[in-house]
Formats: sequence, structure tokens, C-alpha cells
Amino acid sequence: MGIVKLIIVALVVWLGFVLVKKFRKPPSNIATKSSANKMLACSVCKTHIPENEAIIQNGKVYCSKGCL
Ligand SMILES: [Zn+2]
Repeated sequence: MGIVKLIIVALVVWLGFVLVKKFRKPPSNIATKSSANKMLACSVCKTHIPENEAIIQNGKVYCSKGCL
């Protein structure tokens, strides 16, 4: 009886870990993917550049200091 209860508890804990892993992974993947792939158009020359390389000033996007 005791062993069966222990196995059930272990199974529930393991299932919990699996579910948490499943539910946690996709949102973080989507977040990193969307932020990495997000392209912004320069408001001067219309060149598309990744968001992390863009210069954003006064709500406008610039591809480089030359356009800024
Ligand atoms: Zn530009």
C-alpha cells in the first residue's frame, strides 16, 4: 500500500515537471524568436533592419547614424 502511494506521488510529481516544461518552453521560444526576427523599416531610407540594430529616437526608426 505504501509503495503504491509512493509511486503515484512520484508519477504525479514527474507529470507536473513534464507539464511545466511543456508550458514554459514554447512562450520563451516564441519571445526570443519574435524579438530576434523583428524587422523595422528606417523612416528615412526604408531599409529593413533588425530591431536590436535599429536606432529609435522620438518614436522614429533609423538604420544608422547617417540617417539619424
Ligand atoms: Zn536609413
